[in-house]
Amino acid sequence: MNFDSIFSAAQEAFLFYKNLPGKEKGEFLDTLAETLEANRAEIVPLAVKESNLPEGRINGELGRTTGQIKLFANMVKEGSWVEATVDPADPNRAPLPKADIRRMLTPLGPVVVFGASNFPLAFSTAGGDTISALASGCPVIYKAHPAHPETSRKVADCIHQAILKSGLPSALFTHVEGGIAEGQALVKHPAAKAVAFTGSHVGGMALFDLANKRDEPIPVYAEMGSVNPIFCFPKKLAANNDALAKAFVGSLTLGVGQFCTNPGLIFVPESQAKTFENAIAEELKDIAGAPMLHPGIAQAYYDSIQFLESREELRWVKVADPKHLINGSTALAEIKAADWLADKVFQKEVFGAFAMMVVYQSEDELAEIAKNLHGQLTITVWAEEEELRNQLFLINLLEEKCGRLLFKGAPTGVEVGYAMQHGGPYPSTTAANSTSVGAHAIKRFARPIAFQDMPQDLLPDALRDGNPLGIWRLVNGNYEK
Ligand code: NAP
Repeated sequence: MNFDSIFSAAQEAFLFYKNLPGKEKGEFLDTLAETLEANRAEIVPLAVKESNLPEGRINGELGRTTGQIKLFANMVKEGSWVEATVDPADPNRAPLPKADIRRMLTPLGPVVVFGASNFPLAFSTAGGDTISALASGCPVIYKAHPAHPETSRKVADCIHQAILKSGLPSALFTHVEGGIAEGQALVKHPAAKAVAFTGSHVGGMALFDLANKRDEPIPVYAEMGSVNPIFCFPKKLAANNDALAKAFVGSLTLGVGQFCTNPGLIFVPESQAKTFENAIAEELKDIAGAPMLHPGIAQAYYDSIQFLESREELRWVKVADPKHLINGSTALAEIKAADWLADKVFQKEVFGAFAMMVVYQSEDELAEIAKNLHGQLTITVWAEEEELRNQLFLINLLEEKCGRLLFKGAPTGVEVGYAMQHGGPYPSTTAANSTSVGAHAIKRFARPIAFQDMPQDLLPDALRDGNPLGIWRLVNGNYEK
């Protein structure tokens, strides 16, 4: 595959596409959502076959995919996402006159996106990374995930149909199949301006290191998973023991645990651990294992469980049953907080329906846990309001450790909206100042540029006097439309 010609065509497409009005970019994205919807009957069975995920889930995932495309379409049509900021000139300022400075976000250029195995649609070919890059004005060179090649080709075909219908250059999107060598060549290519990735820690860090060794280092937005701890407080647990056990097990086992927001760690007070454990065991009783995404992921799951089984600090509440290797069977182990704190290996993500229940003795121990916790996508606090008010110090510590802090419900089920934050401190991602889900994801593929004393008629519309786009702008420090 000739990557030079792919990037050169993408760069040419970029110089045309970046200057199109937001309205046209948004209409293209709307056309893509319609094209995917029109091909639902073909896409869904392919994704079901290649991912082992049930039809209901895949149907829902396609709805989520088109929903997020429409969200970005609306955003770019509206236009305020560019954060236009205007500081008008003041020629009479003493002792020095003030220049006219106008700042906005502008797209980066061609970007490389890696598809994820656990979301064959919503985090893959036309998933959030691809769409937020296209919305910002960047062409995408997409490295397909080898776990679902037919689905990926079909969706890529829909993207090209939408490009054609919209009269845009076909190099706006390129579908690349291959393995590690191809992925690395894309990241190393001098014309690549950013990388988005969802997958393993090893994979994400390999790409991050590669991007930083380039002559021109580029940002890598790698989402590498998390154990999404839940902190349980005594009064909340006493009042809701069974309901919380049910919520926990539902979140743990959803999609055979193959979510980056799957709760793999739960902290429980010692005095209530047995009662809670019994309720969890009761909930787990009827949950059978189901096929995982692919044999490699199932193998990795059982290898991690086998390693943990060799550790004497753990007491097993439910052991995994690796009889049918592709099936992910739920497992739960208990450990004392002091033992958990003594070895960081207990913080490692086990991708699948496994959780560790950590039994704590005191609030001091909880604070110690919070201080030592690795960076997470989410942290959940289950506490009564009165307990929360006594835990402000702990909450302050937890804010430093995650991208999304929940006080109700369970961490799985990431809403795609304007306020969502899906990204947290390392090692959950390589860029805690960004999100891979929700409206703010678009900013990963843009950079600020300021124009100083540029003639009015040459300025981008977003920055011109009279605000011809009618967008929200910060003018002289005040927001106005
Ligand atoms: P992965 O191994 O990280 O692979 C994801 C993509 O990155 C694939 O296209 C892969 O290429 C590429 N890649 C991986 N390492 C690379 C490297 N060193 N250089 C260049 N490209 C590289 O993830 P996976 O196959 O989906 O699943 C493996 C494990 O990842 C799971 O067991 C789980 O632990 C974790 N995972 C985490 C999340 C999450 O939510 N963060 C999601 C899915 C999986 P090729 O495969 O084509 O060679």
